[in-house]
Amino acid sequence: MDAATRDTSAMPRRQNPRYDTDAYTPRWVRYTGQQKQGYCESCQPMGKWLQLKNSAYWYHKQFFHGISSVSGQPFSSPLEQRLNKESDLLEGLCHQCLQFVPICNTKRKNSVLWYRHAHKCHIYDKPKPKASQQSNQSNTMPQSTH
Ligand SMILES: [Zn+2]
Ligand SMILES: [Zn+2]
Repeated sequence: MDAATRDTSAMPRRQNPRYDTDAYTPRWVRYTGQQKQGYCESCQPMGKWLQLKNSAYWYHKQFFHGISSVSGQPFSSPLEQRLNKESDLLEGLCHQCLQFVPICNTKRKNSVLWYRHAHKCHIYDKPKPKASQQSNQSNTMPQSTH
């Protein structure tokens, strides 16, 4: 092992999304194993490198940008919003459980509370990966030859 080997893993590598509308999977990664990092392109004005193995990237993408790791899409927005004057929280009506849940504190304008709820509550479909789109699934039975 020489220094050059380690240097190549530090070079950002291009990664393909799981499917065309995948906004979760990083397009760029660098390093390998425990050090592996993904590049968040949603961060403005500059992107940000976050570690993949300790969930830093997962956490950041879901609860900072509100992108579901399951669907690769932004979490659904509240159906309605209202201000709770007693708690000083902005609340949103969740389409899944039909309850008002906190979105954010009116002083801190991030929607982390809503994203946390959405992550636990909302049910999202996982889009099929591009590579394994099979159109003949409905009329062929899986055959066991064992
Ligand atoms: Zn970001
Ligand atoms: Zn809900």
